[in-house]
Amino acid sequence: MEYYSSQISQLIEQLSSLPGIGAKTAQRLAFHIIDMPKERVEKLADTMVKARSTIRYCRQCLTLTDRELCPVCGNPKRNQKVIMVVENPRDMTAYEKTGKYEGVYHVLHGAISPMLGIGPADIRLKELMHRLEKDVDEVIIATNSSLEGETTAMYISKLVKPTGIKVTRIASGVPVGGDLEYIDEVTLLRALEGRVEL
Ligand code: ZN
Repeated sequence: MEYYSSQISQLIEQLSSLPGIGAKTAQRLAFHIIDMPKERVEKLADTMVKARSTIRYCRQCLTLTDRELCPVCGNPKRNQKVIMVVENPRDMTAYEKTGKYEGVYHVLHGAISPMLGIGPADIRLKELMHRLEKDVDEVIIATNSSLEGETTAMYISKLVKPTGIKVTRIASGVPVGGDLEYIDEVTLLRALEGRVEL
């Protein structure tokens, strides 16, 4: 299997370990990198290392940020009493791109999946419940409409209901099994506006 020098093979191997990058793409990227000016490769590698070492979880919503509070949580114009619960930072970005949502978020970093052995304790639910001890008007559950997303939504609604805080679920305008990040803004907004109380 040793077609290339071991350095190139290693580079291809490293790249193909990234999500969504198959063997062919990894090979193309590897050769592209080798053809790039050395300074650009250094800059790329440096940016990756810096991003990895400075990025952390927002103290409040747990999205990825390089500050203690992310720009959304730190924005005084946002309504801190409305919390939209999403599975990951990419879903949060999808809603932010609509520019119409004025509340804040809570990022779970996953969804409950008995099949994969991911239970409620494996996602950031404890932190959500902790936030609900403050003055909150509404929790909007915007997990994906996959089996895992629905299971998580049901679980959260059961947790939140006893607190008396309004719990809503985004409308099913979002296709079943659809990842929020791939859905267009109009559909996302419609799903948000058409949310139903649980
Ligand atoms: Zn935040």
